[in-house]
Amino acid sequence: MRIPLSAPDIRETDIEAVCRVLRSPHLSLGPKLEEFERSIASYAGVSDAVAVSSGTSGLHLCIRALGIGDGDEVLVPSFTFIAAANAIRYERAQPVFVDIEPQMLNLDPAKLEAAITPRTRAIMVVHTFGCPAEMSAIVGIARTRGLSIIEDACEAIGAEYDGRKAGTIGDAGVFAFYPNKQITTGEGGAIVTRDSKLAGRFRTLRNQGRDSSIDWSDASELGYNYRISELNCALGVEQMKRIDEVLARREAVARSYHRRLNGNPTLVLPELNLPCRRISWFVYVVRLSSRFDSRHRDWIWQEMRSRGIGCGRYFAPIHLQPIYRTAAPEAGRADLCNTEAIADRVLALPFFNQITDSQIDEVCATLEEIVLQAQNGFQ
Ligand SMILES: *Cc1c(COP(=O)(O)O)cnc(C)c1O
Repeated sequence: MRIPLSAPDIRETDIEAVCRVLRSPHLSLGPKLEEFERSIASYAGVSDAVAVSSGTSGLHLCIRALGIGDGDEVLVPSFTFIAAANAIRYERAQPVFVDIEPQMLNLDPAKLEAAITPRTRAIMVVHTFGCPAEMSAIVGIARTRGLSIIEDACEAIGAEYDGRKAGTIGDAGVFAFYPNKQITTGEGGAIVTRDSKLAGRFRTLRNQGRDSSIDWSDASELGYNYRISELNCALGVEQMKRIDEVLARREAVARSYHRRLNGNPTLVLPELNLPCRRISWFVYVVRLSSRFDSRHRDWIWQEMRSRGIGCGRYFAPIHLQPIYRTAAPEAGRADLCNTEAIADRVLALPFFNQITDSQIDEVCATLEEIVLQAQNGFQ
């Protein structure tokens, strides 16, 4: 793609930091892990951060450490990345999909209550595209119904709700550092929590069940290798030093797109400002207006790509994917009408720190031209 959908922002100082690790004797479980975890915990304002091999492994450890298992149900949106529901199924628990609200595209608190059963154990809240979910209502429901809250903040590092960082409001929250995220470690993730006992469980489970306070050979339970190497952590430490600058730049890119596309009646744009929230811009996703359907969207997506402009169709609802249709047919039982209607019309545009104004102009001009063609009958 001439203009990619995303691109990591790697500087010389990042490369030097990774090379320094390679020249050191510590390639795993060393000083960079501690430094990276301290930097995440202090940025988030919590006691503990536990760095792991990916966002997905972080979500899995949350399910596992909270004791959620066979037959338990966890409420989760279907309009999200499949990892959120997979993490629930790794422990043989049942994801129960709840519809989203049409503005921020997050779990609709008004639809949560109806999905709760005696088997419900937790709500997995996703802060989709970096926009915080309606946490005051969701926390209220969780408290009165005795449910845990896991925050999938994999797309939302730095986002805030009522002055509190996304990921730090529930029992545990997870950030992810794949190359398309706001900051990257190549592969990697981190769990944040204010519960130091829970943090201890995460540390044990990520390292084969070894209790670090006892002898290294003393495995107290079945764990995993969800460790993250010192190379990844060194990159993470450098990236975290620039987090404020990165988030400011991404907000400026979102504002440029908004200025350029605002007023186009065929597009629904993401809100730039929302009450009680600071958005951490992960991607810029526009929606086609309701006169279009998924065939129009797919054609537009194809045309954009054929002209060298990277585009994404996120998200394809989880409950409609083959592995979920067959393995958990009842999981789609709730009314997911917003999820399905919105998923048919979304289009993610190129979004990365170094995108230039002229590239944004080209993306928008091309998009408007192609949408007009689609409107006039694309066949
Ligand atoms: C990126 C992401 C994850 C985790 O992804 P990994 O590739 O495992 O790091 C989980 N949930 C959501 C919503 C994500 O966007």
